[in-house]
Formats: sequence, C-alpha cells, structure tokens
Amino acid sequence: MIPKETVDKIFDAADIYDVVKDYVNLKRAGVNYKGNCPFHDEKTPSFVVSPAKGIYKCFGCGAAGNSVKFVMEHEKVSFPEALKILAKKYHIEIVEEELTEERIQEKQTIDSLFIVTEFAKNFFKKTLHETDEGKNIALSYFKERGFRDDIIKKFELGWSPQKRDALTGNALKAGYKLQFLTETGLTIAKENDYQFDRFAERVIFPIHTLSGKVIAFGGRTLKADKKTAKYLNSPESEIYHKSNILYGIYFAKNAIVKHDKCFMVEGYTDVISMYQSGIENVVASSGTSLTVEQIKLVRRFTKNLSIIYDGDAAGIKASLRGIDLALAEEMNVRIIALPEGEDPDSFAKKRSSEEIEKYISENEEDFIRFKVDLFAQEAKNDPIKRAQLIKDIVKSISVIPDRIIRGEYIRSTSKQLNVSEEALYWEVTKILRKNFEDRRNKHFGETYKQKPVKPELPVKTDGIYSETIEKDILHFLLKFGNEIIEIEDADEKISVAEFIISEIKNDDLEFHNLIYKEIFQDYESYFSDNAESVQDYFLKHENEKISKIAAEILGPIPELSKIWQIHGALNNGDEKHLDELIPKLIDTFKLKIVQQKAEKLKKQLAQLQRSDTYDEQLNRLLEELKVFDSLKVQLTELLEKTALL
Ligand code: ATP
Ligand code: MN
Repeated sequence: MIPKETVDKIFDAADIYDVVKDYVNLKRAGVNYKGNCPFHDEKTPSFVVSPAKGIYKCFGCGAAGNSVKFVMEHEKVSFPEALKILAKKYHIEIVEEELTEERIQEKQTIDSLFIVTEFAKNFFKKTLHETDEGKNIALSYFKERGFRDDIIKKFELGWSPQKRDALTGNALKAGYKLQFLTETGLTIAKENDYQFDRFAERVIFPIHTLSGKVIAFGGRTLKADKKTAKYLNSPESEIYHKSNILYGIYFAKNAIVKHDKCFMVEGYTDVISMYQSGIENVVASSGTSLTVEQIKLVRRFTKNLSIIYDGDAAGIKASLRGIDLALAEEMNVRIIALPEGEDPDSFAKKRSSEEIEKYISENEEDFIRFKVDLFAQEAKNDPIKRAQLIKDIVKSISVIPDRIIRGEYIRSTSKQLNVSEEALYWEVTKILRKNFEDRRNKHFGETYKQKPVKPELPVKTDGIYSETIEKDILHFLLKFGNEIIEIEDADEKISVAEFIISEIKNDDLEFHNLIYKEIFQDYESYFSDNAESVQDYFLKHENEKISKIAAEILGPIPELSKIWQIHGALNNGDEKHLDELIPKLIDTFKLKIVQQKAEKLKKQLAQLQRSDTYDEQLNRLLEELKVFDSLKVQLTELLEKTALL
C-alpha cells in the first residue's frame, strides 16, 4: 500500500504538461498547450493541456483528467500502478506500508497462484517451441491452422505434453506447492497421491488480464475423437473469475480505444485469426453468455460493441440477454452476421483487413433492428407470437437510458413492424413507469405516504452545490407545470411537470434542501390527480413554511437565480422558451449533483484508510469517479453549447 503522503508527493510532482509531453506532441496555445488527442483518431488537434488547472481535456472525445488519470488511461493501468510509474519518473521512493497478518496471507496465496500460473505458461511455451513433441504435434498444428509465428508468440500459445504429469512433476521438482497447482486447476489430485495434468496433450491458449498477467488457460485437444471434449478451461479460482474477463482484452485494448469500437467473437481461435488479419480490437467471451462485468470491461474503452456471429440463429439467440445488458450500459450494440458456413476464424483467415472492414461496414446492423428482423419472420402470421415479439422489443428499448435514443428506436421499430409509434411509446412508458414505481417503493417503502421529518435542520451548502437551482425547479413546476412542451429530438409532447418529475425520478436525483424536497414530493403526489389546483394547494398549504415559499415563487417578483433571469421571458410563460429552457434547467441540476458527487468521492478517496478492503474500495471509488467525471464532461458540453453556464 502506498502511504498517503507519498501519493500527495507524487501528485505534487507530476506536472500535467511535463507528464503529457512524454506521450503527445504539444504546442503552446496561449496559456495552454494543444496537441492531437492520444485517445482517439484525429487530424486537427482538440486535445488541450492546462498547466494552470493541472488537467487535460479533449474537446473531441471528452477524455479529461489530471496527470495520474492520464497515465492510467494511456497506459491502461490501475491507480496504484500509475502512481508507481510517475514515482519512477520523479525519483520518488515508494515505501509501502505494512499490511495486516490476514491480508498478507491472502496476498501471498494470490501471489502464489499467479506465480505458479506464470510457471505453467512458460512451461507450455517452452515445450511448444523447444521439444520435438511440441514442434511436431502442436506447432505444426498451429501452422496448419494458419497462425503466424509472431502471433503464436504474442498470444503465448503453448503445448501441454502427452505425459500425464509432465507439468505437475516439473513444477513440484522446481519447488512449487501442490496446493497452488490444484487451486489453479492445473493439477488434478486423486487419492493415494496420484496427480495428473488437467491439460495433458492439449494445445494451450493462455488467458490474460487487462494488464497482461496470465490467470487461466484454455486447452484444445488435437484428437478428432468425439469422446474427448474439444476444449477444456481452467476452473474458477481466486485469480480467475471467468465472468469478469474477456479473452484477448489485453491485446485489444489500445486498438479498441483507437477505433472506438470493440468486436466480440466466440472463442480463442476467432480472436487470434481476426487479430492476425489486422482487426486487433477483438475479444471473446469464451463459452459463456455475456455478463455485466464483461460489458463494463469493454465500456471502459468504448461505447461501441459489435458482435460477430456465424450466421446460425441459435447461437445469437442464446446471447440476447447479454445484449440487453449492454444496451442498459448505454452501449451501441451492432450485429454482424457472417456468410453461410463461416465462423470468424475461417472468415478472417481468407481475407485481408480491408476486405473484412468492407464486409463489416456493409453488413453491420443495429441490434434492435436485427432483433426485430430475427423474429419478425417467425411471427409474421401468428398474432400471439407477434404480440410477444413487440413486448420483447419494447423491453429492449426500455432499458436504454437515453430518452432521445429510445425515441429513435421507437420510430424505426414502428416502421419495421408496422405498429403505430403511439402504441410503442405507450408500451415503453408502461415499463418505465413500473420500474419507476418499483424503485420508489424500494426507496420510500411504507414511509412514502407519511409526512417527511420536519425540516428544521440547517442545510449545508458546499460551494459547488447551489440550492437556488432547486428553487428554480420549483418555480417552473408551480408556475408552468401544466404547460405542454415539446422535447426536441424526442418527438414527445409532455407537460412541464411530467417531464421534470420523470427526469428527476428516472435518474434518482434528490433535492438537497429539505423543505424544497418536501415540496417536490408533495407536488409529485398531488399533481397527478389535481393538476389544475396545484397553485392554490401550495399557497394554502398547512405547513406555513411551504405556503410562504409558494407565495414567494408565485408572487409578482420571483427570486430566480441569475441564470434563469438572464434567459428572460419567464414571467409571461413563453411556451417556445419553455421547450428549450426546461431541459436545460434539468441538465444544470444534474450537473450540480454530479459535480457534488464527484467532489464527495474525491474527499472519500483522500481519506481512504488502509484496511483489508483498501484495493477494492479504491477501485470502486475510482470507477465511480470515472463515471461522474465523464457525466460532468457530457453535461458541461451540452450546456456550454447554449452558454447557460
Ligand atoms: P475446428 O478446427 O473444428 O473448427 P476450433 O478450435 O476452431 O475447431 P470451434 O469448435 O470452431 O473450435 O469453436 C469456435 C470457437 O469457440 C473457438 O475459438 C473456441 O475457442 C471456442 N470454444 C469452443 N468450445 C469452447 C469451450 N468449451 N470453452 C471455451 N471456448 C470454446
Ligand atoms: Mn472453428
């Protein structure tokens, strides 16, 4: 563990310009520096380094952060690893703090599992390249499959000898403990001291982590014998959780960022053949259907996921659930069906990278569209199946967090299935409303209907968060709640109140100021049945504080914060204005919350105490921070466009 003082020292030393200039060619631009963004392809520089603020920011792709973040992103390393890299650059010595006895034990076990896995990998490689058996049987097999030498070396392919205990015997002789050999699954131990190799007589595909450590293996038999399983994989262990890893991610990550896209295929040989053909941004989920963790892993590098599959519908139907998970993570999912009888391996082998790219661009299909097509044929003349299909598609659409994108899908699906847009909107709304109610019940439970606690506590504001925005929101709710606005890009007509309530609820946003919060909650339950009398209700509210605030808001001179005053035309309720203004208001509110959450996380990070779960906590905080940082950038850009900030 790196002590906090050392972390601070590294942060102090790592001047943003000095760090970035090692990687990017920077030119001075006023007080800042400019260069081509290393995180996406570009010809005109939109990557800015601000020495004064200690940050970098790309106006093209939104990448942004401080010097440590830069190293993390550029080198694709964890926070502690980035610190170590910078410490080295600035000659800062890291003396790691002591760990608890238990943690040491645990760490030692994990280290041992890594070490024995590393030994096995080297053993398999060596036997492949340096023994007659390996060369004659395995290397010649790889070559027959068309794998080039450099690719065989890069992916660290290997051979596990025919002798039943070749690896186990060698490892024990070299001093490795049997316990770790069995825990990694490399050795299978029977009673009476009989041990043998799990992968004996198989070619080996090592599975690498994001940072390139080997944690598990896949082994393929070369026998055509139907009784032997073609592929065997390492079992789950303390270092290998198969749902958390994607085969090939270590080799693919830079290319994924560069092309802002990731291809997903079925297995080891597919990844290797595609890579060899020049399509390097490719990973495989190896036998399992996609998990949330795997999607999040890809999501760290790109939003664009394209799944390549071999034409047979059964295979793709099995992974549909995983794809819905990806949609929920705001990924753009596309599907590429290969020609009849081809899998990614055979397909890539026959083609140059240009030919592959051409095929992809001509055949790539949006996932929802694809899903509709896939089932539409079956459902054509069967009303029950058709209804089921619509329900299913609507479910996929409703998990997409972005309202605008949902609207686009509704439009295209309506055309494709010949169902009215209204009907689809209605179905989607039903699902969203149900989700929202489920969530609300979960949050508020039985107490939802009860009066909130009397808001006598003073409310703290921390500078970044401004309560005036909350009051502004109430202003628009009370004054213009019934006005109908048209949300641009979404083709939706909705009342101001419905829009604001759904935005706030869908994103689980909370008011800070307790009295405002109470007003909002009260408004929400009152409005649905009594939209017309809402102003009256609040002006005559039994809680004096509330009625006073309502009077202030509805009075002749509303106290609006400057932003909204500047925007003007509020008192006459210019509807055209509201169309634009209300979404901006909500985005500003979101931005305030995001900024505040990010600050809070930074504080937590700074105060993180060493403990058994330090790494875990650290990673979790950093992950969260990353999400908020990117939200911040997105929202800021959105708002900057209209100069409302
Ligand atoms: P063949 O030479 O007969 O085509 P293959 O080695 O290419 O065999 P396939 O049966 O074509 O294997 O399987 C396609 C992909 O699925 C391969 O890349 C393989 O890595 C992967 N795969 C198949 N079975 C498993 C399994 N049990 N576990 C993990 N991956 C598997
Ligand atoms: Mn194959």
